[in-house]
Amino acid sequence: MRKPIIAGNWKMNKTLAEAVDFAKEVKGAVPSNDAVDSVIGSPALFLASLAEELKGSDVKIAAQNAYWENTGAFTGENSPAAIADLGVQYVIIGHSERREYFHETDADINKKAKAIFANGMTPILCCGESLETYEAGQTAEWIEGQITAGLEGLTDEQVSNLVIAYEPIWAIGTGKSADATIADEICGVVRQTVEKIYGETVAQAVRIQYGGSVNPENIAEYMAKENVDGALVGGASLVPASFLALLEAVK
Ligand code: PGA
Repeated sequence: MRKPIIAGNWKMNKTLAEAVDFAKEVKGAVPSNDAVDSVIGSPALFLASLAEELKGSDVKIAAQNAYWENTGAFTGENSPAAIADLGVQYVIIGHSERREYFHETDADINKKAKAIFANGMTPILCCGESLETYEAGQTAEWIEGQITAGLEGLTDEQVSNLVIAYEPIWAIGTGKSADATIADEICGVVRQTVEKIYGETVAQAVRIQYGGSVNPENIAEYMAKENVDGALVGGASLVPASFLALLEAVK
């Protein structure tokens, strides 16, 4: 049985005070980690304060990016070692916004995945197709390509522990969430791709999230599907009541 994982992705929102207030409000109210992994994906600037505030609670923390080197002349970047040192457990990598606006490639994302594992954290590796690819009926091939390149050289054990988020770009922040049947089908493509490379045991262990306009009203539809193990949630994760409602719906 795969444990559900709900991760909020705050993107570039909130001030430090707002982030800490959010943590104070949710830390005693989330369901137990036995039932669901509750994760907040925060801007790097707030990670240290969130880690302090959430110490000993059932809320886990994700960074939204990390570089793949641990030290060096990389002005403006954050190393996975420094992020792990704060007590952060997850790092979101390969989000479509980073691929599009910051020109991240599958090869970059693969290096990040390896560095995150090497520093004892878990990547949440995002994949997803554009509206154009979707309308051309090429989603499955596109996703298979992103996953195959993203996982290159990872071990069976690493992939068993990995989280993969399928987020169709046309569903992100648009209010047009993918139909749950389509989400399940493409999360199934992700799982089959993992199976082709790593075999059935690893494919049955890897957790796959759907993301794209998920909210407390529609999350149950996705979670009822066989291949969907959780959600990566942007807009609906920004307010404590909504974040908690998402978790209540899946626990
Ligand atoms: P959204 O964002 O829930 O606001 O659509 C999801 C994401 O980009 O991870």
